[in-house]
Formats: sequence, C-alpha cells, structure tokens
Amino acid sequence: MLEDWSEIVPEQPELDALVDFLRGALVGETIAEVHLGEISALKSAQLPLDSLLGARVGSVTRIGKFLDLEIGDAHLIVHFALMGWLRWYAEVTRGPVRMGKGPLALRVALKSGAGFDLTEQGTKKSLAIHLVPSRDQVPRIAELGTDVTELSEAEFTTILAGTSARIKTVLRDQSLITGIGNRWSDEILHAAKLSPFATASTIADPHALFEALRMVLDRARTGLSGLPPGRIKAAEKKLSTVHGNAGASCPVCGATIAEVVFADRSFQYCPGCQTGGKRLSDRRMDRLLK
Ligand SMILES: [Zn+2]
Repeated sequence: MLEDWSEIVPEQPELDALVDFLRGALVGETIAEVHLGEISALKSAQLPLDSLLGARVGSVTRIGKFLDLEIGDAHLIVHFALMGWLRWYAEVTRGPVRMGKGPLALRVALKSGAGFDLTEQGTKKSLAIHLVPSRDQVPRIAELGTDVTELSEAEFTTILAGTSARIKTVLRDQSLITGIGNRWSDEILHAAKLSPFATASTIADPHALFEALRMVLDRARTGLSGLPPGRIKAAEKKLSTVHGNAGASCPVCGATIAEVVFADRSFQYCPGCQTGGKRLSDRRMDRLLK
C-alpha cells in the first residue's frame, strides 16, 4: 500500500493547477543554472545535475502525486512532501546557494532570467527529487494505480468491491487510485455522507460516492485553475469544507466538525453528516492504520 497521510501533500487538483502554470512558464525555456540546496532531497540521480544545463524544457506533466519535468533527455521528477512546494520567480537569484540552510531543496534558473525553487519547510525533510532518463525508473511510479482523472465508475466500483479496507484508506491508496490524498478524501467522504471508517466492499451506493468524488475534484480543479503557485495553497484551504476545519460548524448540517488526531497526522469529518452523530475514537483509528 502506498499511503500519503501528510496534511499538505499536494494532490491532483492542486498539482494540475501547478502543471497548467508551469506549462506556460517553462515549456521551451532553456536551463541556465541548477543548484542543490538540500542534498538529501535528491533521492536518485542517474544523471548529473549539470546534464540539465543548456537543455530545454519539453513537457510538464503530473503522474499521480508526482510532478514530471521533461528537460532535454532527462526527467526531473518531484514528489512534494509535508510543507513542500514550488516558488516561482520572474527574476531568480543567480549563483551558488548555501547548502542545508532554510527551505531550499533545489533552485533552477532559466536563460530568460526567471526560475523556481523547490522548497520544504520544517526539519523533517521528505521532499524527493529524481533525475532519471525515464520516469519508469522512479520505483513508486511503477506501482501507481489508475489516475483519478481517468478512473471510470465501473473500475471504481470494482475497486470498492475488492477490498474490506476502510474507505478512507482505499481512496488514498496510490496503488489503487492515484492522485487523492488526505485533504480531498476527507472532502469526498463528507460530500458522500460516508464515515471514513466504512468498509469499502459494503458501501451501499458506489454510484453516489463516485459522483461525490467527481464533484469534489472538479470543484477543486475549477477553483484552483489559473492561479500562480504562490496562491494555490491558500485557495485549497478555502475550498475545503471539513479538512483542516475541526471545531468549525458544518455548513451542511451545523454540527461541529470533528477530527481524529495522532502523532503528525489527522483527518476531519462531520459527525452530523457522516457518522450518525458518533465521534470516532482513536482506538479504532489504530486499527484503521494497520
Ligand atoms: Zn455536517
């Protein structure tokens, strides 16, 4: 199982918005400088970073929750992590960067003068950058299931029928469906009025859940469309009804939005809409995570 629990790992709607922006800003541009700011961010480098110099950006795509920049004959593949994102500069600072200081993982400067930083706040560094000749050489990419934007209702129904795992776990399992994480699975389950702990194979109306999935992701995609990278994170919070909103009133039923918290993770739900008024306990949470 490939899970991603972190609160702020970007998912399909926000990554597609980032891809839209980068296609306009990067495709056809030539790389002038590349500087590594955090050595541990470079998880696999089958090519030297210098091989990017003078190369042109050919394409920008999303694969699951990965960003894939095709640059010359190489793929620069990024998996954002907790607090990781991209900062775009119309004029990027040139020259060497200080290693291991602050949030900078990698800086790329273009011949045009523009450029971007891949960043990660905090002390726990898990942003992952791969520089490889082909995307298949990133192990986790080979294990990804169907992208959520290409998922048919028939396939979704088959996935649900085939597992007795909790629905919250199934929606985030990247080997089954790729692109959904903690935020949008909270929102989908709220829209579908389903408990996060419901057993996938016993869900009475998979059609309604699929409709909720489409509705939530389409709404997020539309809401984030056209935004520059620096505004996407704030906008996704505004588009979230339950996720990150524990203690607030549910706009649908008025109940207080609750959460299940442990260590560095949490998820939110509405007891009124989703669990018949019951609060989910942490003891059950432990079982969910097995
Ligand atoms: Zn509610």
